[in-house]
Amino acid sequence: MTVYDTAVVGGGLLGCATAWHLARAGNRVLLVEKDQVNRHASGQNAGSLHFQLEFRMVEHGDDAARAAARALPLHLDAVRAWATIEDELGERCGVSRTGGLMLAETPAEIAVLDRKAALEREYGLDVAVLSGPELRRFAPYLADTVLAAGHVPGEGKANPRLVTPALARAAGRHGAVLRTGCRVTGLHRRGRHWELRTGAGPGDTAGETHLADTVVLAGGVWTAELAAMADVRLPVFPVGLTMSATARSRPFLPHLIQHVGRRLSMKQTEDGNVLIGGGWPAKLVSRAGRVDLETNPELRYESLVGNADAARVVPAVFDLPVIRTWTGMTTLTPDHLPLLGAVPRRPGLYVATGGSAFTLGLTYARLLAAMVVTGEPDRSIEDYSPSRFGALNFV
Ligand SMILES: Cc1cc2nc3c(=O)[nH]c(=O)nc-3n(C[C@H](O)[C@H](O)[C@H](O)COP(=O)(O)OP(=O)(O)OC[C@H]3O[C@@H](n4cnc5c(N)ncnc54)[C@H](O)[C@@H]3O)c2cc1C
Repeated sequence: MTVYDTAVVGGGLLGCATAWHLARAGNRVLLVEKDQVNRHASGQNAGSLHFQLEFRMVEHGDDAARAAARALPLHLDAVRAWATIEDELGERCGVSRTGGLMLAETPAEIAVLDRKAALEREYGLDVAVLSGPELRRFAPYLADTVLAAGHVPGEGKANPRLVTPALARAAGRHGAVLRTGCRVTGLHRRGRHWELRTGAGPGDTAGETHLADTVVLAGGVWTAELAAMADVRLPVFPVGLTMSATARSRPFLPHLIQHVGRRLSMKQTEDGNVLIGGGWPAKLVSRAGRVDLETNPELRYESLVGNADAARVVPAVFDLPVIRTWTGMTTLTPDHLPLLGAVPRRPGLYVATGGSAFTLGLTYARLLAAMVVTGEPDRSIEDYSPSRFGALNFV
């Protein structure tokens, strides 16, 4: 039986990017995915690369914003990661970084924007608050109701359908073994190894056992379930989200749009569709009193309307028919910070999930891989450590 240096569980962006970093550092890597690579959040998301604090981080007041801002060093790292990823992978991933705007429509929202920008500058983010004729010149497509906007030059988008498959191919080129249709059903420490049991999944004929020195849990909304297999409780929560896409149109929206006072993210794809999201909820499906993570969340009428209404700040969007709406699930932690690093009291067990893990995913993966290989990433990830939830684990 091959003993791998690292087994990565999950073939989303985090798993594939971590496998790539580990394999190119010379690790023997096994990546196990129960469905297909990119089947879940990493392939369903809005593709926003947002480096400003999001609405959900500022809507609960300054203290909450200050706490969430502890992830900003990762945002700065992510600006650089997205700048070079296509060259590093040798593939196009639809990365475009023509800047992002966070809009304010009332004096109270402008005040939030100003405080937010001041906080972001403390961490070194390049952000300017534009208003009046300067804003009109910069973004003539905005409605007159928009009074000001926080501008971050490096923000933009990437294509979620391209990024993760490209990372998986790159991991494979560096020797990582990818097993899809293969579900991890058990995780046990055996001597100095971890034993992974895999159940038969679609396309996989029989269950197997694999051994690895270290294990990375990159299971998205299944992270708590995977951690429980190693008898660890991690407070990560699934959240259902709604996205809408319009018909194609001529290019008119070069920026990523967000709003400081309500849920909104909006961008135009390379093909001309406008994608609208920004945190509108979808209803998680329950069976026998438990959230069913295998079933897509149900659409909420209010979120469909919310998506449409969000377009109010860019009037041209109102003329475009919505051609598709979908839901997906992502993971949040109670403090909105990432969950990233070594799991205490489980030698060789690591986890990465939580937060804006499309934008920050390349950064999480690089830092986590460095942690696995050297024990010492090039920037501290202490603030995001699973040890902050140590009190939940008494054994
Ligand atoms: C609608 C929507 C819009 C979003 N928009 C944005 C955005 O614009 N910007 C942003 O930064 N973030 C966004 N996000 C969040 C982002 O998509 C996620 O944070 C990110 O994709 C998480 O990647 P992941 O690899 O952790 O999870 P996933 O992509 O879910 O991958 C986890 C994988 O683990 C596999 N797995 C789980 N359990 C097992 C097991 N037992 N055995 C084997 N495999 C297993 C799953 O099958 C899955 O493929 C959005 C999310 C959604 C749902």
